[in-house]
Amino acid sequence: MLGQMMDAPLLISELLRHAERYHGDTEIVSRTVEGPIHRYAYRDAARRARQLAQALTRLDVDRNSTVATLAWNGHRHYELYYAISGLGAVCHTVNPRLFADQIRYIVNHGEASVLCFDLSFLPLLEQLAPLLPAVRHFVLLSDRAHLPPDTSLPELLCYEELLAAEDDDYVWPRLDEQTASSLCYTSGTTGAPKGVLYSHRSTVLHALSSSLPDAFGVSADSAILPVVPMFHVNAWGFPYSATLNGAKLVLPGPKLDAASLYELIAGEEVTVAAGVPTVWLALLQHCAQHGLPLNTLEQVIVGGSAVPEAMIEQFARHGAEVRQLWGMTELSPVGTTSSPKFKHRHADDATRRRLQLTQGRPIFGVALRLVDAAGQELPQDGVAFGRLQVQSGWALSRYFRRDDCASHSDDGWFDTGDVATIDADGYMKITDRTKDVIKSGGEWISSIELENILIGHPAVAEAAAIGVAHPKWDERPLMVVVLKPGASASREELLAFYQGKVAKWWTPDDVVIVDELPHTATGKLQKMALRERFSTYRWPEGA
Ligand code: AMP
Repeated sequence: MLGQMMDAPLLISELLRHAERYHGDTEIVSRTVEGPIHRYAYRDAARRARQLAQALTRLDVDRNSTVATLAWNGHRHYELYYAISGLGAVCHTVNPRLFADQIRYIVNHGEASVLCFDLSFLPLLEQLAPLLPAVRHFVLLSDRAHLPPDTSLPELLCYEELLAAEDDDYVWPRLDEQTASSLCYTSGTTGAPKGVLYSHRSTVLHALSSSLPDAFGVSADSAILPVVPMFHVNAWGFPYSATLNGAKLVLPGPKLDAASLYELIAGEEVTVAAGVPTVWLALLQHCAQHGLPLNTLEQVIVGGSAVPEAMIEQFARHGAEVRQLWGMTELSPVGTTSSPKFKHRHADDATRRRLQLTQGRPIFGVALRLVDAAGQELPQDGVAFGRLQVQSGWALSRYFRRDDCASHSDDGWFDTGDVATIDADGYMKITDRTKDVIKSGGEWISSIELENILIGHPAVAEAAAIGVAHPKWDERPLMVVVLKPGASASREELLAFYQGKVAKWWTPDDVVIVDELPHTATGKLQKMALRERFSTYRWPEGA
């Protein structure tokens, strides 16, 4: 027997329709590329998104189209999110931090017919335009006054002019909720970037589940600052979850330096901020240097790479709770968040800290399992570690137009490429990427754990652990370290720092100090480049 309830498809346009109706005067504040702070409310955003949908339709964008964006976190990018997906086309957010040739590949692979971009990316697009044959219109996300007087870009249109020519009578179509809504490419370090094609249904479900109290805890009483870019996994879904809840949205534009972020947090009374650890390290340093408080901040969502313990403590002194998030492009991205349970209420500080240092437990709608190299399931006892696999209504079923990628097990689990433990309460801890794990004497050593320990040393700014070939043990761990400005520490001192913190055989065999470490476009350590650089490294006598 079927239920007898109304059929309401889960559509992205419904999020904005709800915010317009019930949170019409709640603000969206953006730092613009042109300079000034722009403010308006959900009501205005909804009206402009309808005008934009109409303008895009006039540019022949329809349900078979893809529209690409190269833009920072700002109100116009927000409008594009809703207008493009709302009319039934695919919003393809492109990461401008990638190499020009990767951008060329990604835009061509997505087959966008319209490309909308912020002024910052004009020179890049002037260079790339001849190599993007499918793009018929380039739209500058600004007004006429900022249109360049002469540019080699063909058919350059002005966003504000396109909108001004339209009324807001557009009616959002009732799409099938499985319709594709947006497209995002992974910034993997090997091979061609791979696309993940989200749907309306997956996006709305992800927005619902990720805004639960144990996840992002977003509400109409929050002011949210997503520092994580809208060109990287849809800014962790905040443009959707903030809208669903009617939260005030604060968008930092191109200025991601600590002073600019501080100004927004303090000035806009931000309660929830989200971003990768490096952003927060800089902000905390800035606050310490200038004696600045973070009075309004209640929660900092940190993900993308492991959260250092010192960061949790420093935010706690400001009265803000760090919540770690684990996720990935293939998972929309949220999989787990590190919130405590009722039974931890009376736990001591050390226990609660240990929970925050895990990547967290699955939010509703996400299932995790661990398997060994042969694909056999491993116990979730907090000790056994193996390949982390996931199933979810917002995990990909396959990569976009790439049938050559074997990413799923025969029984339908996506292999994340992470290596982890999961304890009996569901708290997951990443110990490595499959390809970064250090294999010593047939056993695995967690490179992340070795890095986290050394980051706790007062002289160390950044540390990378890599496996280097060893005649007896297959591989042994080598630490490559950047010291803090003006700090000094000897190799012996740094190696001694591991005493009592790890099993003896996990202790690295050597430390090399360098000026800087290589990073990917999304701020992750580029271990492959490091391994190449140290491929001719020779272990010291006796190691
Ligand atoms: P991306 O698709 O670029 O967002 O990268 C996803 C990968 O980032 C994951 O598979 C993890 O390896 C890593 N990652 C994400 N969040 C965390 C976290 N909290 N701690 C450690 N690694 C993380």
